[in-house]
Amino acid sequence: MPSHRFTQFSAFSLRLTAFVNAFLLASTASAQNPAAPPADRRQEPFVVFLGTGTPGPTPSRQGPSLAIIAGGNAYLVDVGVGVVRQANAAYAKGVAALNPRGVRIAFVTHLHSDHTLGLPDVILTPWVLGRAAPLELYGPPGIAAMAENILKAYAEDIHIRTTGLEQANPTGYKVNSHETEPGEAYRDANVKVTAFAVRHGSWPLALGYRFDAAGKSIVVSGDTSPAENLVQACNGCDLLIHEVYIGSPTSAVHPTEHWVQYMASFHTSARQLAELATRAHAKALAATHLAFMQGATEGDLLATLKRGYSGRVVVAHDLEVVNP
Ligand SMILES: [Zn+2]
Ligand SMILES: [Zn+2]
Repeated sequence: MPSHRFTQFSAFSLRLTAFVNAFLLASTASAQNPAAPPADRRQEPFVVFLGTGTPGPTPSRQGPSLAIIAGGNAYLVDVGVGVVRQANAAYAKGVAALNPRGVRIAFVTHLHSDHTLGLPDVILTPWVLGRAAPLELYGPPGIAAMAENILKAYAEDIHIRTTGLEQANPTGYKVNSHETEPGEAYRDANVKVTAFAVRHGSWPLALGYRFDAAGKSIVVSGDTSPAENLVQACNGCDLLIHEVYIGSPTSAVHPTEHWVQYMASFHTSARQLAELATRAHAKALAATHLAFMQGATEGDLLATLKRGYSGRVVVAHDLEVVNP
């Protein structure tokens, strides 16, 4: 290509890049909103529930995901549907650590699709917005293959974005996968993260995580039936975040008897959770991954939890912020 044409091309390319950047910036919610609550002045660590739903596509509840904010950083646990848009919504409400461009570490509890459908989103969207650091991804065995296969599925996208006029950086889509066994999983200046095995039906290894940060302890159950390991991992913890269902298990596709058996082996009922939180001496309990069956309501859930457990109880909503 003659040099003057190259120069013209470069000038056009720079203008286009500036346009694309302005477009992306406009797409990232501004934290300047004067009405935004001062979430950042909350005492860290705190938890932002990004999605409190289940596989069911409840419009008001995104897929399971939450962020623990410590030392100004966001540590995601699970990456369900909607995770990056919800992070951006929290950012717009003043949680600076959830600027989608800065999201770069995630802990996955297990490989069920409801907990991982947002993985391509967390890998790719922050990169498209300019993140240059690879995603640091923790999870049970199989998480590395999942990340590799997602990158294969999006190979054409990555090729076009890195070699075409979008001029995306060549590093931010990469994933450093860390297959995690029970024990200390991660440590930095802000947090220590300990993984423990829970009991999620036929999964060979499903994990819960305990976060210790600034003298506070937060335990996240992932999906599990009542698990003694979780009672031990909490053992007086400041905040226990646990999955729950309420109401008699029913399924549109399975016989009731089979579904009752499935729920008992994979999940935890409200009554079981109250008993578990009491035995774990949790100082506070936040219920998430909320499965309401046969018309059961949030009021029913709250009442059942409070009947069997005397600490502070939160039935989490999407974008709710909870302090331990
Ligand atoms: Zn689940
Ligand atoms: Zn599951």
